[in-house]
Amino acid sequence: MTLFMIVLVGLYFLLVVYWVKRFVGAWQSRLEERVTKVNDSYHQLLKKKDDLFKEKGDLRDEALRIFTLYEITKEITKTLNEEDAFALFQQKLKENVQLEECLFIDSAEEEDVKKMRTSPEYFVISLQGRKRRLGYVAIKGIVEYDKEIAMILAGQFALALRRVKLYSEIEKIAITDSLTELHTRRYFSERFYEEINRTKLRKLKLSLLMIDVDYFKNCNDQYGHLTGDQILREIGKIIKENIRAIDIGGRFGGEEFCVVLPDTDKEGAQFAAERIRYATETTTIKAYDTSLTVTVSIGIATAPDDGIAANELIDKADWALYRAKKQGRNRICCFGVY
Ligand code: GH3
Ligand code: MG
Ligand code: MG
Repeated sequence: MTLFMIVLVGLYFLLVVYWVKRFVGAWQSRLEERVTKVNDSYHQLLKKKDDLFKEKGDLRDEALRIFTLYEITKEITKTLNEEDAFALFQQKLKENVQLEECLFIDSAEEEDVKKMRTSPEYFVISLQGRKRRLGYVAIKGIVEYDKEIAMILAGQFALALRRVKLYSEIEKIAITDSLTELHTRRYFSERFYEEINRTKLRKLKLSLLMIDVDYFKNCNDQYGHLTGDQILREIGKIIKENIRAIDIGGRFGGEEFCVVLPDTDKEGAQFAAERIRYATETTTIKAYDTSLTVTVSIGIATAPDDGIAANELIDKADWALYRAKKQGRNRICCFGVY
């Protein structure tokens, strides 16, 4: 009986040990499984962290590049002429890229560009404006790796060129009379004052021509205002073609024009005025279905002989013009010489 009890207890004990072992085994493998999972996710996190670090580095590099480009753009676009913009572009290019030389080629010089495009030494970038080509940049000795940054910088340079061209076009529009393409009265006056100051400082002579179309009202009445406008356009052209580069021609108002002749005495002024008078008289103006000729009368005042203040000279040239009209038109009259 006792032996039976001992065997029973022994069996019970073995059963308990067996179940405990199985339970511990299962628990252990579950734990190992969890440890492996935690380990895996730990490694995944480590990898993610490395990736994020790399991404952060890349982003920082990209931000730095964008910032550098932004700074370059800001600097280049501040420039107000082509030469300065190109000099700055060249400087920035040299700071960022290795090269031997960099040239700016005008869009008119297509032959040069063709030659450079076929040469392996040059990398040619076209500078595109909104509607037209602004020119080319040819870079010698640049490596393949640097070409992308050169193209980005050339893009900024093209932007600066567009801005420079736009600025000068707007400036030209602001100072140019749209009908005659001579200077507006306002700009003419500014330049007139400058020239008077120069004349005073250097003790030179200066002459002012006041030009008025003869019987212009009749032209308007007879042929209409559109033909009248065409006549004014032609007179503007005649004046421009018959004055020197240093002379300043302007539309004073209506059908009256004025020209400042720096460094010019009465005799020289008469010579210039006669050129304009004669060219007008001998030009056949074609307007729509009409061909006609007109004449002009010109009054001349000279500084310092007739005065040195701008208003005084205008008054005196106007007075001389009045005399030319009185004497029969299509003629020249100098103030004080009657
Ligand atoms: P005169 O020989 O004495 O100078 O005679 P005129 O007829 O030229 O002189 P007037 O000053 O009487 O006439 C000027 C005319 O010019 C009057 C005006 O209608 C005209 N006019 C002024 N500005 C313009 C313009 O922009 N276009 C046109 N078509 N006519 C203009
Ligand atoms: Mg008039
Ligand atoms: Mg007139």
